[in-house]
Amino acid sequence: MKAAKTGHFKRLQLVKPFVGRIFLGFLVMLVAIVIQLAFPKAVSYFVDTISKEKTTDWLLVPAILVFVTFIVYCTVTALRFYLFESTGAMIVRKLRERLYGSIIKQEIGFFDTTKTGELTSRLTVDIDLLKDALSMNIAIMVRSLIVGIGGFVMLFGLSPLLSALVVLTLPISLLLTKWLGKKVRSKSMALQESLSTSVHTAQESFSNIRVIQAFNQSKKAMETYSASAESVLEHSLINSRLMATFQGLSTFTSFSTLLLTVLVGGWLISKGTMTIGELTSFILYAGMVSLSVNAISSLWGQWMRSYGATERVFELLDRVSEVQTYKEGLKPAHLKGQVEFANISFAYPGRQEKEVLKSFGLTINSGEKVALVGPSGAGKTTVVNLLLGFYEPSKGCITFDGIDSSTLDYRSIRESIAIVEQEPVLFSGTIAENIGYALHKPLTRLDEIRHAAEMANAHDFIANFPKGYHTAVGEKGVQLSGGQKQRIAIARAVIKNPKILILDEATSALDSENELLVQDALNKLMQGRTTIIIAHRYSTVAQADKLVVLNKGELIQYGTHQALIENEEGLYNKLMVHQMG
Ligand code: ADP
Ligand code: MG
Repeated sequence: MKAAKTGHFKRLQLVKPFVGRIFLGFLVMLVAIVIQLAFPKAVSYFVDTISKEKTTDWLLVPAILVFVTFIVYCTVTALRFYLFESTGAMIVRKLRERLYGSIIKQEIGFFDTTKTGELTSRLTVDIDLLKDALSMNIAIMVRSLIVGIGGFVMLFGLSPLLSALVVLTLPISLLLTKWLGKKVRSKSMALQESLSTSVHTAQESFSNIRVIQAFNQSKKAMETYSASAESVLEHSLINSRLMATFQGLSTFTSFSTLLLTVLVGGWLISKGTMTIGELTSFILYAGMVSLSVNAISSLWGQWMRSYGATERVFELLDRVSEVQTYKEGLKPAHLKGQVEFANISFAYPGRQEKEVLKSFGLTINSGEKVALVGPSGAGKTTVVNLLLGFYEPSKGCITFDGIDSSTLDYRSIRESIAIVEQEPVLFSGTIAENIGYALHKPLTRLDEIRHAAEMANAHDFIANFPKGYHTAVGEKGVQLSGGQKQRIAIARAVIKNPKILILDEATSALDSENELLVQDALNKLMQGRTTIIIAHRYSTVAQADKLVVLNKGELIQYGTHQALIENEEGLYNKLMVHQMG
């Protein structure tokens, strides 16, 4: 609880830059409130003067005064609206940016266990809820409070007896609100939860659209989505029913109060202790007070609804990545590219019970080419994941040029590493943007990009596109063939000029013609770099300086291709023999 309180305090920091605007907003609001509170007084004056004077000569000056006041009132109301709305939008923008910044720095293990849809709905739905709570609602709350209290004071001034009547109905409203708040709070969590599941369902099917259509499963996808939409509806309906009941009950309370006021007020007038004007203004003030109380209670309900969203947003905002790759640390200016895995044991955070690497040890000298071979699931990609700092080893350490990576700023290590994977990942944008992706310069010179593409055997096919390097690749590169995407990914690695190069089954998904082109590009790329090659093909691994055979997370063979081939009983021989013919 204590932690939560300091957390809330820290959250106020978000509002700090906007204090001026908010203050101005409250100032104009105050002007509006004063006018609003004076209005029934004016009405009372008009009503009573009309019944006394019987002429209209006196009307002109007060009418002009009222008109001018109205203009002021409208202006400040508009100003107030704009100030609060716009400030809310500004705060939300900052919040969104911070939330995105926090998400994108979380460790890879976090993304293994968190659905993308959940994260995007934090950024959209939850923040929108928060926006309402933060901007308009605070303003309306404060205004309602002041108008309510001010109205009350006026009521008592007019007639203590009638005021007592109004006061008696208040506890009913308050009880209602409390009841609703409690209910709504628990239900709204469930609603948000079901919303984010629904978003996730849609997102997943859009990104897997090829599989869905190829397997003729659009109907099944539709059913899954319908079910999630249905669940959202159910939860919304529960919420709506709660709100509806509340609306009905609170309207009933207000009108009963009004009826009572008119009856008792009429009796007071007949006794001569109250004028018609006074009763009129009393009813207007009572209306104000009751509107304010209603506004406060319904806002309270809304706040309770956004409470769950708020908690989730701030939980994510405050979350600290479990793998501290963004911490400040040593930043070696130039890595030579020597890498050592010293007695590494590792289990994925999502599956602690299964040790994926067991006492894995390997030294790769600067410029050396090491091939990792082994059956699927042996832990080869895991070695790469650890090298990139995506996860922390449970035991042992990784060193770069002899320096323990846990003392280094991983950002600077990643500057020296490039990876080409089996499934190249491209961003929507142009080919040039994708090749220049790894560079921090906003604009990479086209000749640099072209040079990289030439190195990657990609220039010819790119030049054949009508728009050349400015061809859009489509989301995830769907508008390109596998081999073309892979060569763009290689060009992206080339332009980075890495000290350490990782090829994780970079040619495995390609047909033989593309493979030759890609392999040739990779051979050029490997020149003079420390390279880890993960591959199954004999032709690829045979050229490595050293070979490492992994099985079930353990290093079981190590040596040159020749030495390993000579061990006829070894796993390497079994893995390769069918390829050698
Ligand atoms: P490969 O040698 O085929 O590249 P991996 O290193 O990808 O093998 O996987 C090694 C083992 O770790 C496998 O049993 C796999 O199921 C498991 N594994 C891989 N990634 C994860 C993950 N993100 N979370 C949990 N387990 C994983
Ligand atoms: Mg793998």
